[in-house]
Amino acid sequence: MSKKNVILIVDDIPSNVQILANILKDEYAIKVATDGKRAVELAQQEPQPDLILLDVVMPDMDGYDVCSALNDMGNTKDIPIIFVTANDSVEDEERGLNLCAVDYITKPVNSAIVKARVKTHITIKRQYDELKFMALHDKLTGLYNRHYLMDEADRKISSALRKNEPLTIMMADIDHFKCINDNHGHLVGDKVLIAVAAALDKNKRAVDFVSRYGGEEFVTIFDNCNIEDAKLKAEKIRVAIESLNPENLTVTSSFGLVQLNSNHHNFDSLLKDADEALYEAKNSGRNRVVVYEN
Ligand code: GH3
Ligand code: MG
Ligand code: MG
Repeated sequence: MSKKNVILIVDDIPSNVQILANILKDEYAIKVATDGKRAVELAQQEPQPDLILLDVVMPDMDGYDVCSALNDMGNTKDIPIIFVTANDSVEDEERGLNLCAVDYITKPVNSAIVKARVKTHITIKRQYDELKFMALHDKLTGLYNRHYLMDEADRKISSALRKNEPLTIMMADIDHFKCINDNHGHLVGDKVLIAVAAALDKNKRAVDFVSRYGGEEFVTIFDNCNIEDAKLKAEKIRVAIESLNPENLTVTSSFGLVQLNSNHHNFDSLLKDADEALYEAKNSGRNRVVVYEN
């Protein structure tokens, strides 16, 4: 059975929260907050809500404030919000919808209408999440794709420069992969790609970013990591891949590493140097880690 979607109910009057919770509790996992500040906290905590039912009139932080706060944060801005309020004036409705609410329900609530509206927006959210996942991930390996790498790399580079932290990137390429396809077929090749991708993903820290760059090439960004530490990590990954034996085959990879420095004006220049180091790793015998030197 698939996991229940999570709904956050926000209202400063506990009995109002209770009414909505009773209507929805059988089909959804419910989180509740009785003030705006708590609502913003809960919206950021795992499991994040898939939908928020938000009261407009609350002391301190009202529903509009909560809506704006959630809209300003990357990890909450895509959570749909339905305003639930006794204020059934057209102006309130217009303001809420203009701000960021996807829908509007007036109190006293009707249970059938609440269920129907919630179901509609949960369905839309699920479809949105699926499309977003597909846009950012590589279908075969489940790793992030090149498109997302480019976006994420720009953010990570800016952040490293701002905080004056080291950042290292690693380009990995499976050795003689074409032979695997030629000798064992494309399906076996695919399984090898999946296994190598999983090994790369398993051997990373939470802050590191692993992506499939293209065919049998992978790019990892080691956050807050200098070249010496990255070299140790790459060596560990090299050994992990060498001992994988996916499909009972010996598979090895070559690695090019480069640390961000003042010569790099963008991610492309960083990639170019990593690629050069990788080329050197291939030329000097494969199954090795080479650090870029200019
Ligand atoms: P090298 O050691 O120099 O990297 O040699 P190589 O054979 O690994 O490199 P080459 O670039 O010659 O070949 C890569 C092959 O990867 C060619 C391509 O058909 C195959 N490939 C790319 N994407 C996929 C995929 O999704 N699945 C499978 N099975 N093969 C793929
Ligand atoms: Mg290769
Ligand atoms: Mg290649």
